[in-house]
Amino acid sequence: MSFNLATMLRESAQANPDKACAIANETTLSYAQVDEISGRVATSLLGLGLEPGDKVAVQLPNLPQFLFAYFGALKAGLVMVPLNPLLRASEITYHLQDSDARILITFEMFAEEASQGAREAGDVATYVVTLPGNDQRPEGTKHFDELYFAEDTRDIAPTNADDTAVLLYTSGTTGSPKGAELTHFQLFMNCTTAGELFGFRDDDIGLAVLPLFHVFGLSSVLNTAIRFGGTLVLVPRFEIDPVVDAIEKHRCTIFSGVPTMYFGLLQADTSGRDLSSLRVGVSGGAAIPGEVIKAFEEKFPGVVVLEGYGLSESASTTTFNVSAEQRKVLSIGRPIWGVEVQVVDDDGKRLPPGEENVGEIVIRGHNMMKGYYKRPEATAEAFRNGWFHTGDLAYADSDGYLFIVDRKKDLIIRGGYNVYPREVEELLYEHPAVAEAAVIGKPDDKLGEEIVAMVVLESGAEVAPEDVVAYCRERMAAYKYPREVHVLDELPKGSTGKILKKELRDTGSTG
Ligand code: AMP
Repeated sequence: MSFNLATMLRESAQANPDKACAIANETTLSYAQVDEISGRVATSLLGLGLEPGDKVAVQLPNLPQFLFAYFGALKAGLVMVPLNPLLRASEITYHLQDSDARILITFEMFAEEASQGAREAGDVATYVVTLPGNDQRPEGTKHFDELYFAEDTRDIAPTNADDTAVLLYTSGTTGSPKGAELTHFQLFMNCTTAGELFGFRDDDIGLAVLPLFHVFGLSSVLNTAIRFGGTLVLVPRFEIDPVVDAIEKHRCTIFSGVPTMYFGLLQADTSGRDLSSLRVGVSGGAAIPGEVIKAFEEKFPGVVVLEGYGLSESASTTTFNVSAEQRKVLSIGRPIWGVEVQVVDDDGKRLPPGEENVGEIVIRGHNMMKGYYKRPEATAEAFRNGWFHTGDLAYADSDGYLFIVDRKKDLIIRGGYNVYPREVEELLYEHPAVAEAAVIGKPDDKLGEEIVAMVVLESGAEVAPEDVVAYCRERMAAYKYPREVHVLDELPKGSTGKILKKELRDTGSTG
């Protein structure tokens, strides 16, 4: 079946050509403009000799050029490979070589590192996006604007629905970064289903501060807005005040973020601000504590925070809490339409509902990737009996709602007892002085692992670590409470704002 994901941009542009598609700083681009410019980029890319299926790496922050490059590549029948702008040269080389990318599109701020990485990868032409007034580029690179000069041929390549549209790099449950092959159809189905479920409308204005190079930003924020003809406000970096300013100024209705962004916004001074446009907060990427949802909804009246769950390999949303009436706080919700989710034991046997029946989440359905690019073994390891194994541990309740307990590898085993850091973190978040918490296992000769908590305090709050230990001891089973609490200024976070537990384990647990 012939199908190209970029048709959703074309359809929204035909339905409403003058409607604002993307707003970035003072610039507003209409649907017609994004459609036209991405068409020019498509023609130019093909003019460089690229063939359908060739890979175009796009290493950009949330700027309009991301949309031009993404839809340009799709329209040309090429495969887009989104890369994190913060990668170092050697990592860029790895990703370019692994993905067989022919072109790299990067941003001025990262261009030195990127062009070095591209040179080492071999024959990868590098195009640089620069801000107005600056034309500084590393030697040998070209200006991205050059790709705007061709005529828009107005044809969208007749790709097949199951052709790869995006190669999304992820470490998966183990090992080095691998490219998850997501097809035109999977990405289309995912944004359509998820958007329908929570009622995305064409008058919605979504704040795009989640990085678009990550599945949550790409699929749930960007694709959903384009699919339903809404407007995107592009914000390149999460900073509390600029985000609040953008919500107020552009009358944003939907905020999508990882939990750390919700914590951040709880610290914002919102007095005298009109943030009444906001109606939905979508949270995902990591577990959001119930306390944070409650505090957020109190601070932003009229907003309902809906938590979902997904992975790079699942083209984003897999389960979702679709509305205020149907949600269960602390749950990741129920599977979206057309997607099956089960909780299984180590032998792949389905576990019945019940809190005591914790097992691994496995998924099958229209949203699952084709496989990891050029890695048949890793693909076979991930898909067993047709089910994709996530490495996430959860249980289901009798209504089919899933509750993530932890990631398989995050599990702490203390003296033979399984301790799920999530549960300890939930309790820590209830402590009035604690703003953020992460719980890890520290190697211990006697017990195998000891439970250690890292916390960041609310601004102005003071509490002795031993008092936090005592607080937990009073409230949880003896084998679960943290024996050590460390107060830190901040927790290490990845590009989407997820807490990097590995880093805490490597450095913090010995402190
Ligand atoms: P990524 O491929 O970077 O999107 O990471 C996917 C992983 O994020 C999943 O395997 C989960 O471990 C985690 N994750 C995503 N959403 C949630 C959620 N709502 N609660 C807990 N963990 C989540």
